[in-house]
Amino acid sequence: MAGTEVHASPPPGDSVPLIGSLIGGKTVADPAATVTDVFDPATGEVTGRVAHAAPELVGEAVRLATDAWRTAWREASQKDRFAVLMRLRELLLAHRGQFVDLIVSEHGKSAADADGEFARALDGLDSVLSFPVSLQGGSFGQVASGIDVRSTLHPLGVVTTITPFNFPLMIPLWSGAVALACGNAVLNKPSPKVPSAAVLLAELVHRAGVPAEAYGVLHGDASTVDALLDHRGVAAVSFVGSTPVAEHVYARGCTAGKRVQAMGGAKNHLVVMPDCDLPFTAASLVAGAYGSTGQRCMAAALAVAVGEAADALREAIAARIPAIKVGPGREPGCEMGPVISRESQRRIIDLIGQGEREGVEVVVDGRPLAEELHGFFVGPTLLDHVRPGTAVYDREIFGPVLGIVRVDTLQEAIALINANPYGNGASIFTGSGGAARLFERTVDAGMVGVNIPVPVPVNSFTTGGWKASAFGAHGLLGPEAFRFFTRAKTVTTRWPQTGAAGMGMAFNPGI
Ligand code: NAD
Repeated sequence: MAGTEVHASPPPGDSVPLIGSLIGGKTVADPAATVTDVFDPATGEVTGRVAHAAPELVGEAVRLATDAWRTAWREASQKDRFAVLMRLRELLLAHRGQFVDLIVSEHGKSAADADGEFARALDGLDSVLSFPVSLQGGSFGQVASGIDVRSTLHPLGVVTTITPFNFPLMIPLWSGAVALACGNAVLNKPSPKVPSAAVLLAELVHRAGVPAEAYGVLHGDASTVDALLDHRGVAAVSFVGSTPVAEHVYARGCTAGKRVQAMGGAKNHLVVMPDCDLPFTAASLVAGAYGSTGQRCMAAALAVAVGEAADALREAIAARIPAIKVGPGREPGCEMGPVISRESQRRIIDLIGQGEREGVEVVVDGRPLAEELHGFFVGPTLLDHVRPGTAVYDREIFGPVLGIVRVDTLQEAIALINANPYGNGASIFTGSGGAARLFERTVDAGMVGVNIPVPVPVNSFTTGGWKASAFGAHGLLGPEAFRFFTRAKTVTTRWPQTGAAGMGMAFNPGI
C-alpha cells in the first residue's frame, strides 16, 4: 500500500481509528470527507485514517478562532500568556513518553531520535519564554520639543502553521509557541502522515489555558492548505516542507495578501578537508547522513571531499555503516528506522538506480534491505563520484543516502555549493581556522557548521535557510520569528501645555 492512499470515506465496517480535526476543542471527522491512511512505517500496517478538513470546515475553524482571538486570547495579559506557556511546558514533560511512542509509531524514527526531537521541541519553547523581553517594542521621549514616540508590537490575528512529516511535534510546537506567545490564534495543518502528535499537542495547549477555539488542528493536504491560503480571515502562514510546495504556498499566500514564511527543502553539502580529524569526521558524517534515516532538512546529503581526503573518507564511512543498527524504531538499541512511506522507499531506490545508470558508484548498497524487512526500509547507502547533472546530486533524496563528490580545492567546493539552488545548511570539517573562516564568510547557506554535521542553531538564534530553502525572510525561531508573528504600531504623542501654538501648515514642523 502506498503512503498516499486516498478513499472518499472510510471503508464500511472499518475498525481502524478515524482521526478527526480539532475545531473549537471538539473532534470533527466529516464522514463524507477524503480520508487517507496512516501507516506504521516499520511494519507497513495501517494504524489509523485521517479525515481531511473540507473548505467549509476550514471556514468554521477560522470563524471560531477569530472570535476567540478577539474576545479572549488577544486580551490575555503578558503575565497570563507566560503562565500558560509554563503550564504547557510542564504538561509536555509529563507526556514525553507518549509523544515518543506516537512519533516512533507514525514517523518510524528510533525512540532515541524521537526523544531527541522532544528535547529540541522543548528547547524551542524555552527560547519563546523570552517573549516578555522580545516583544517590548521601543520608545523615545522628546524626539522633538514636547513630542514622544513609542512603538508597540501587536498580534496579527488568526495564523496557520503548515507542518511537514519529519518532525511531527517539534515544528508544530516551535511555530505554534511563538505565534501564541505573540498573542495570535493558531490553526495547525500537520502532515496527514503523522497526525497524532499534533493532536496531542493541541490537547495540551488547551489544558494549559489557551481557549480551545484559539488553537485548532485541521487535517488534510493540498485542498485544506489552499482553503487556508485563500481564506481572508487568515493573517499569516508559517509553512515548512518541500521546495515545490513552499513555492506554491508562498505565491498563493502572498497573492491573497498574507504574510508568509515558507521553509523549503535542502541539499546540504559537507566539505571535508584533507587536514580534518578523519575518524571524528567520518563518525559525524555517518550520524548526519543516516540519523533519522536521512529525513531531516539538515541531513548530510553530500560529502564534498577536497583533494586527497576522498579515498580515506570513503573507506572510513564504508567501514562504519555495517555497525548501524537498522530496524523498527521501538526496538532497543535501534539507530535507524524505516522511511516514511512505501512511495518514499520506491523513490529512493529508483534514484539510487538512476545514479548507477548515470555513472555514480554504489559503494554500500542499502536497497537489498527493502526485500529483507517488512515495512518501508532502505539501508544506509554510500555513493561515490556523485556530480552535478546526476539525479542523486540534483534532487533532494530525503533518505539514508550519502553521496561523495570529489573536488580539488576548497574554492571549488564553495563554488559548487553556491551554484546549488538550495541553501539550507553547509558544513566544513577541517583543522584550519583560515579554511573555516573563508568557508563561513563566503558560503551561501543560512545555517553553517564548522566540524558540526547538522548545524541547526541554538533556538534563540534565527533558524532558516537561504535561496530555494526558504521563501520570505523570517526565521522559524529567534528574533525574526517574533517579528514575523507581530505587527508594529507606532504612536506619536504631544500633550500641549496650555497656550501652546498649534501645528503649522508645513510638513512635520514639530520634528
Ligand atoms: P511536503 O512539502 O510534502 O508537505 C509539507 C506540508 O504541506 C504538509 O502539511 C502537507 O500536507 C502539505 N502539502 C503537501 N502537498 C501540498 C500541496 N500540493 N499543496 C499544499 N500543501 C501541500 O513535505 P514533507 O514531505 O511533509 O516534509 C519533507 C520536506 O520538508 C523535505 O523537503 C524537507 O527538506 C523539508 N523540511 C524543511 C525544513 C526547513 O526548515 N527548511 C524543516 C523540515 C523539513
